[in-house]
Amino acid sequence: MPAAPSAPPGAPDGGPEGILRRQSLRESAARTYARALPIVPVRARGMTIEGADGRRYLDCLSGAGTLALGHNHPVVLEAIRKVIDSGAPLHVLDLATPVKDAFTTELFTNLPPALAADARVQFCGPAGTDAVEAALKLVRTATGRDGLLAFTGAYHGMTAGSLAASGGARDVEVTRLPYPRDYACPFGVGGPEGARLGARWTESLLDDPKSGVPVPAGMILEPVQGEGGVIPAPDAWLRRMREITAARGIPLIADEVQTGVGRTGAFWGVDHAGVVPDVMVLSKAIGGSLPLAVIVYRAELDVWQPGAHAGTFRGNQLAMAAGTATLAHVRKNGLDARAAEVGDRMLAALRALAADHPCIGDVRGRGLMLGLELVDPEAPDAPTGDGAPQLAAAVRQECLERGLIVELGGRHSSVVRLLPPLTITDEQAVAVLDRLADAVTAAERNRHP
Ligand code: PMP
Repeated sequence: MPAAPSAPPGAPDGGPEGILRRQSLRESAARTYARALPIVPVRARGMTIEGADGRRYLDCLSGAGTLALGHNHPVVLEAIRKVIDSGAPLHVLDLATPVKDAFTTELFTNLPPALAADARVQFCGPAGTDAVEAALKLVRTATGRDGLLAFTGAYHGMTAGSLAASGGARDVEVTRLPYPRDYACPFGVGGPEGARLGARWTESLLDDPKSGVPVPAGMILEPVQGEGGVIPAPDAWLRRMREITAARGIPLIADEVQTGVGRTGAFWGVDHAGVVPDVMVLSKAIGGSLPLAVIVYRAELDVWQPGAHAGTFRGNQLAMAAGTATLAHVRKNGLDARAAEVGDRMLAALRALAADHPCIGDVRGRGLMLGLELVDPEAPDAPTGDGAPQLAAAVRQECLERGLIVELGGRHSSVVRLLPPLTITDEQAVAVLDRLADAVTAAERNRHP
């Protein structure tokens, strides 16, 4: 860590409590993470965050899955400093620059080769949701069709089109299809059979002239649902979705905002299944902790007009430099394989933990996207898996008290999610598991004192 300043920058009136109090008075009721994590971060390095009160936390939230290399990784800081010291303009709209050229080259180096061979990239406004909007617009323009196929449990962002794809608004005509899940499978069977039935339903909707579903502009899916509660798509199902869409001329959009850049134990989530989508939506880790979002897509789809998806902030030079450094570091150090290895070990340990705790109804994950679904062991099995949201919130709180930051997700906010950086050490993984095990025990004990 760099030499620590004696007081945190902008030392506040009333210390950390004062900051938190002013936040709750002045910020929107819609604020999110800040409610469950009442900490005031002032320093961070790798997986560790230090609060203004001097407490340290292991960060398993990683900026909602953004920080592939953890906080303030030296290669990221060096890349940012280099741009600043060079005198390059920081704001350039979508003009060509050496920094952007290097980012695009590194990005294309890492794309699935079959896509990279003939791809275009659109730099979007800096959030994942804007890239999702761009992807929807792209496939609607290219196909001349309107509707969209999306999945139960999906999360694609908070703007109108993305929200509609996530099931939360009506601005786009969305046909919702069952995303395969073993736990609380909509068909009550789970496993390969549940996934097969889901694929069959998809085909039948598309081919039945009386299904009421017109041929859509595209299908959007997450290779592993993140916010939806850490649900990995089976590889065979993903391949089937590729076949079904390809056979009917429907562009397949892979939302890799959270799964990209090694997170799932392969460079891209679709790599596990060997699937090449027509469009990939990328954000979070590609900006190396700074805001950046792009779509990459088959050149054939590139028929929209100049200005079709504009935006002032499409040229963040610092984010591109940080992103280039991150992508290159993951590639050169095989951090995707490392995520697979540590993730497998953590998953096995979490399964062992579940064996001792009936309140852990399911353990899921791929690479370093891990989740524990908490349940009420005394409640009857609900078809949608009602989970145990209060217990999950208690586990998150107990984790925080033990110096561990985790997040919740899933249908009923009952899934405790772990998204550690790909740079997590073996010792840190053990510490995370220890603190989590303690927290589960404490939350369970407090529930049944
Ligand atoms: N898609 C996926 C799969 C995501 O996980 C998220 C964010 N959690 C988004 C899209 C939206 O990204 P943003 O919050 O940057 O708009």
